Amino acid sequence: MYSLLIKNAKLIDGISDTPQAMDIAVQGNEIANIAPSIPTAAETVIDAAGKILAPGFIDLQNHSDSYWQIFDNPSLEGMVSQGYTTLIVGNCGASLAPLLNRDSLLAMQKWHTLEAVNVNWQTFGEFLNALGRQKLACNVGSMVGYSTLRRGLVGDQIRSLESEELESLKKILSDSLKAGAFGLSSGLSYSHEIIISELELFQLAKIIKDHNALFSVHLRSEGRDVVEAADEVLDIAANTGVNLKISHLKVRGEENWPRFPELLEKIETAYHRGINIHFDAYPYDTVWQVLYSYLPKWAIEGGRSAMLRHFADPVQKNKILTYLNNSGVKFPSVMVASTTNKLNFAGKTIGQIAKNLETSSEQAVIHIVQNGGSEVMVFEKNLNSDQVTQLVMHPLSFIGTDGAGFSLNEKSRLVHPRCFGSATKFLRQMISGGGLSLGQAIKKLTSGPAKKIGLEKRGEIKVGNFADLVIFDKSTVGDKATYENPYQFSSGIEYVFVNGQEVFGGQPTGKLPGYVLRKN
Ligand SMILES: [Zn+2]
Repeated sequence: MYSLLIKNAKLIDGISDTPQAMDIAVQGNEIANIAPSIPTAAETVIDAAGKILAPGFIDLQNHSDSYWQIFDNPSLEGMVSQGYTTLIVGNCGASLAPLLNRDSLLAMQKWHTLEAVNVNWQTFGEFLNALGRQKLACNVGSMVGYSTLRRGLVGDQIRSLESEELESLKKILSDSLKAGAFGLSSGLSYSHEIIISELELFQLAKIIKDHNALFSVHLRSEGRDVVEAADEVLDIAANTGVNLKISHLKVRGEENWPRFPELLEKIETAYHRGINIHFDAYPYDTVWQVLYSYLPKWAIEGGRSAMLRHFADPVQKNKILTYLNNSGVKFPSVMVASTTNKLNFAGKTIGQIAKNLETSSEQAVIHIVQNGGSEVMVFEKNLNSDQVTQLVMHPLSFIGTDGAGFSLNEKSRLVHPRCFGSATKFLRQMISGGGLSLGQAIKKLTSGPAKKIGLEKRGEIKVGNFADLVIFDKSTVGDKATYENPYQFSSGIEYVFVNGQEVFGGQPTGKLPGYVLRKN
């Protein structure tokens, strides 16, 4: 007797392109049998006639840790409801471990006041153990964040590392990788990483390569200098042989869109030369980011306290305003999604806020950054939707949400709809004639990312693999979340199983069968 039997499904196993009519039996956490007809009894039987059965989706680009959802909302509803069963967190330079001192925690502080948090770990291994005690709906693994590491060593100081500091950083990175981190993530455009030299990166990349782990990079620029930014990391990969993933690849800003073909060509050429390069992308033309990142580099170097000092100096403030004026960003249409301090700005455009404050949009940007607290998030529609489609369909891409698993009850702030609808929006696009077969689309959500990061026994439906499964209706699957009302589950996702247990069946079940994943 099996624990679960799924009958009459159209199986897309994550590898092959064509669906097959199959029954699938699960025993405990494992796929036990796959055959055209399985007559054996089971505790739970699901008739999936006419439905697609696919491996659970794997998100290599997740932020459920820095948004604290793995602690506040272990059901990770926004993720399981779109079919995700495995999340890799610790991205864009910010991870929850290792914590070399209290400052390293500040690097990943988003929305959450840390006073309320019981942080009972320091090393990466201790963090994974704490996560294991926590219980989660999805399987969760983590990268080591470079900002977290660097901030732990030198705090807010923006300078190159002394040689002994670099040695200690290399040692801690190496220890974290041994403890089960899947690789190193870098957020090169963020304040604590802006000045990191290519040489420093090169030395770290060598360590990542030695551990056969992943180097995941949020590029230094996604705008005017995006091609040079990609060149920088492709060069490091060419010289070290490191397994490289560019996070949320895109070209921001209409004036920079013409650089897109050159960017893709660079990446494709590098791949054909043997560089292990892939990237992830989300199927949306609007970015969600911290408002301070629109300020000039010199103004954000040194963190928030240095930035506030610049605002207080009329000469510096004027320089910032001039920079914003000439940046080409259409600030009046940028929408505030959330602020740390409650300002009642969520859902309003900067144009509307400026009007209320009787000031310019650029002045309003400074006002909001100054008064909104440590984390003001905004939506800006600045991507070319044809380019976004090319990215998600590209042979070297995976679908990454770059989001976090929020609960429907959250609602106190707007989050990007990609937190609820990335996979389902992508599937809907492809099913509606987007250019990829369903099998090819599923691969980008399953076996593709699993292979990239070296996940064993996941990302493919075969006997002996973990029973991470999604059953969906091809005719109705799609996203519902919007910028104005992101807290909506997708349509067409009927069942989601993690390690053989149902975590979603139209509604989250509240079960928390996810495993903490360690790279071996
Ligand atoms: Zn990022």
